[in-house]
Amino acid sequence: MSETLGTWVMGFARIGEKRELKKALEAYWRGQSGFEAVLETADMLKKRHWTYQKEAGIDAVSVNDFSLYDQTLDMVEMLGLTPDRFKDIDDPTQRYFAMARGDADHTAMEMTKWFNTNYHYIVPELKAGMAWSVNVQKIVDEYEAAKAQGITPKINLIGPLTFLGNAKRIDTPDGDALSLFGEILPAYEALVKALAGLDSRVTLQVEEPILVTDKASQVSLLCKEAYTRLAGVAENVDLYVVTYFDHAKEAVAQLVQTPIKGIGLDFVHGEENVGVVEAIAESGKTLIAGVVDGRNIWVSDIEEKVRFLERLAEKMEKEKIVVSTSCSLLHVPYTLKYEEKMDDDIKSWLAFGVEKLDEVALIHKIFHRGANYLNAKEAMAYAKNREANAQRRTSPRIHDEAVQSRMADIKALKKQRIPFSERIGRQHACFGYPPLCTTTIGSFPQTPEVRAVRRDFKKGAIGEAEYVEKMKGFIRDCVAFQEEIGLEVLVHGEFERNDMVEYFGEQLKGVAFSENGWVQSYGSRCVKPPIIYGDVSRPEPMTVFWSTYAQSLTEKPMKGMLTGPVTILNWSFVRDDQPRSETCYQIAFAIRDEVDDLQKAGIGMIQVDEAAFKEGYPLRVSKRPAYERFALESFWIATNVAEPETQIHTHMCYSDFNDIIETIEAMDADVISIETARSGNVLLKVFKSYGYEKEIGPGVYDIHSPRIPSVEEIEKQIEALLEVLPARQLWINPDCGLKTRRWEEVKPSLQHMVEATIRVRERL
Ligand code: GLN
Ligand code: ZN
Repeated sequence: MSETLGTWVMGFARIGEKRELKKALEAYWRGQSGFEAVLETADMLKKRHWTYQKEAGIDAVSVNDFSLYDQTLDMVEMLGLTPDRFKDIDDPTQRYFAMARGDADHTAMEMTKWFNTNYHYIVPELKAGMAWSVNVQKIVDEYEAAKAQGITPKINLIGPLTFLGNAKRIDTPDGDALSLFGEILPAYEALVKALAGLDSRVTLQVEEPILVTDKASQVSLLCKEAYTRLAGVAENVDLYVVTYFDHAKEAVAQLVQTPIKGIGLDFVHGEENVGVVEAIAESGKTLIAGVVDGRNIWVSDIEEKVRFLERLAEKMEKEKIVVSTSCSLLHVPYTLKYEEKMDDDIKSWLAFGVEKLDEVALIHKIFHRGANYLNAKEAMAYAKNREANAQRRTSPRIHDEAVQSRMADIKALKKQRIPFSERIGRQHACFGYPPLCTTTIGSFPQTPEVRAVRRDFKKGAIGEAEYVEKMKGFIRDCVAFQEEIGLEVLVHGEFERNDMVEYFGEQLKGVAFSENGWVQSYGSRCVKPPIIYGDVSRPEPMTVFWSTYAQSLTEKPMKGMLTGPVTILNWSFVRDDQPRSETCYQIAFAIRDEVDDLQKAGIGMIQVDEAAFKEGYPLRVSKRPAYERFALESFWIATNVAEPETQIHTHMCYSDFNDIIETIEAMDADVISIETARSGNVLLKVFKSYGYEKEIGPGVYDIHSPRIPSVEEIEKQIEALLEVLPARQLWINPDCGLKTRRWEEVKPSLQHMVEATIRVRERL
């Protein structure tokens, strides 16, 4: 790496701007092509991504940010920590993918969220006394390929503390993998030693995002030893420890005492980091200043970023400040170049991965050299950037007075519904449903026919009238089926929806969609989040037509189905020019209007799904109350327009409510359905011990598996629930929506569920 570092990019995405890696992997997994084709695609993508960074003038470009599946899994391989249960597979490629995805004889390793992102990593399985062995071939290959392209790269590694903190112990249940620190550190030392031979000087970017979480106070104590030892391995290796997603104050105090070269801090998501800059300055280390948002897609305000850096430069030597992205660009889409349908104004406000490279370079040049030194092209880019930001501040596309004046109406927010104990009596009188009332979570199978009808309508191959007729047909069949098997509270089936957030996003003002804005979620899977760019409102009812049609087909209650404000927020790219809470309230008002329209149209039960409520929790405990506050208030705004007789349901796709039960109770939904099928009723106990008084539908079978549960099995499950909560408080339902299942599975499963309920009810 060159002696004078100016610009730094934490890492680049890898799935490919046209999702090339996804396609290559899936073709290989289907047996339609050989592994060579995957490697060829991988090589092509690495080259392309290095070229982008080189052309943008980035000095610190990464290797080993690439992965065929996941970089934590790659670390497991490089350290030789493959779990024993995969050791019978000789072929390394087969073994790698078996670990990632499972095969006929092996269950996959667990996968979980990478901190508070939507990226999922493979959880290492560790035990005490595990043998390790270092193999750096993957890095050597990438290093040499980058060199051949004229780049002297830095090498990205997941640091030992984060690796351990994200791992699980398989020898002692509930054991803490961090206690294996003493055993794993030598493996990392050997790894650094092996990499030292790569070049005369070698730069390592060691990623330690665990240092921004609440584990920081515990883990930071290990920092000093870890990095004193790792930095001492080889004289020619420069270590940079980088953190991201929040502040790393505790850790910095330790890291400055070690012989590492520099420290990376996120100044977009961890303003508190400003407070530790002086300590870094005193230690004489380099500061990798993450100022370009690697998690969101808005153009940087370059002028403002430079001003911010100038303020840092009052505290430390300017030459020691390196301009960087806040985190890897893995978390944003690739490039705006394929967005042909996007409105020009909106497009001018966005910067995806490739565009962010130019921002880093431009900020660097203005900060370190001065605006007067910009060449014509750069000067134009700077002018364009200022214009985009100025326009964003005032554009009527973004700022809607009607929405803002509504925000002033906090009466809606404060008004509580009458107490649950009074409401529920009126609701029972209204609907007369029995104890252990049976229902479903909303969606029914999205068959190829259903998808084809939606696709044809979108393409214009069929007209609206035909589309509506066909959708009504699906709803009719779905309602008839539910009546036939004797379910008590029905749903329309959600056939008109492609995705629970996209469906609403497309109908809300202030929300846009990209054509190609894919972000890797895990392995070969990508998501394309909506872009909330402006004040949000609902020009027209979104679901009333379908719900009232479905209700007209039956005497039984038909649940209206909405996605909640917090979930819409958490699964979107959210505007950064106002607090997230404001945006969430705006969405809440839009959902509120829909709730009101539904009840006025005779829909008496309305489910407001909050599948992603828990996902939004900040990494730092100290920031949680603020999140809980606005999340709760948003749910209230969305639902407290309901009359006492209107029953509000909500659904959440998880079961561990131990640390948030108070907040769940405070949401004040009349009925909540949750996912307990996979975790048994252990986690349900918190509802009892807390004295939760509202009604609960703990999922009685797991819809994520194609297996059809027997009547007896579900009966047992219901009996188990009854040991914890009384029948009057319980609803019986599957643990999530049925859209990913086939009718062949759904029909018998639900029949068994109803049958089991009847049997248990007879014994009550
Ligand atoms: N109502 C939605 C459905 O059934 C809920 C989906 C979810 O929780 N992810 O599909
Ligand atoms: Zn769910």
